[in-house]
Amino acid sequence: MSLSSLFDIAGRKALVTGGGRGIGRVLALALAEAGCNVSILGRHSENIEEVAEEIRQLGRKGVALQADVTQKDQVQKAFADTVKELGGLDICVNNAGVCTHIKSEEMPEEDWDYVVDINLKGVFLCCHAAGQLMIPQRRGSIINIASISAIVANVPQAQAHYNASKAGVVMLSKSLAVEWAQYGIRVNSISPGYIKTAMTLQAKHLFPIWEPLTPMGRLGEPEELRGAMIYLASDASSYMTGHDLVVDGGYTAR
Ligand code: NDP
Repeated sequence: MSLSSLFDIAGRKALVTGGGRGIGRVLALALAEAGCNVSILGRHSENIEEVAEEIRQLGRKGVALQADVTQKDQVQKAFADTVKELGGLDICVNNAGVCTHIKSEEMPEEDWDYVVDINLKGVFLCCHAAGQLMIPQRRGSIINIASISAIVANVPQAQAHYNASKAGVVMLSKSLAVEWAQYGIRVNSISPGYIKTAMTLQAKHLFPIWEPLTPMGRLGEPEELRGAMIYLASDASSYMTGHDLVVDGGYTAR
């Protein structure tokens, strides 16, 4: 393969969960810009419809699929619809996630279940659906969005449920990488540091604490995750599986 085609993913079929806004929206548009047809999965139809339209404006197929990643029947249907609309699935970016800040000693069981169900079970259900499609075709790249919270317990906010769920995503990715390498499926994760999206903007008062903890002195932009995703989606990373790619402005380097 020539060096110039290493990152070429034009014509591939991709799915992005939580693609209606934030990091997922930017990654879905990056895949479209790279020449992929893309389906977007999320709970709120207005957001995903808008992004699907943006993808169509780029000249690719853009498909909005309303689904909650914690509901297996909805996930199965969304993946089946992706195959119907796009003709297959080569790249699956499991990005949907939520975060709340609450002290462990005060954590209601419902809060634990809400975050862990979406962030960990949701990723598993989507990997499961992707694997069922990719195993028979003997190829595919699954990219799970984890977090630096899988590596360090962030401060000052209390988010044990979130941190545990993201550590689970990293280990789940490694486990599936080992199970599915024999089928030509690569499973990796990306662990972003603090990125400016609705998720972090809801705690904007913490930016002055987070920024000096980050060697680069700032939060990242969602666009700064595009390179890592294209790398993992493409043949440039053909020998990489079970890896957690950290993109954090140096946060975890200290
Ligand atoms: P946002 O809150 O902006 O977006 C989250 C997305 O997930 C939305 O599109 C939302 O859509 C979707 N989503 C949430 N729950 C579900 C569900 N049950 N089913 C389907 N879709 C769902 O967050 P970010 O863009 O910041 O986060 C994206 C990912 O990146 C998350 O996994 C997050 O944990 C991770 N991350 C973020 C960091 C940051 O600093 N921002 C740092 C590290 C990791 P809808 O509500 O319509 O369903």
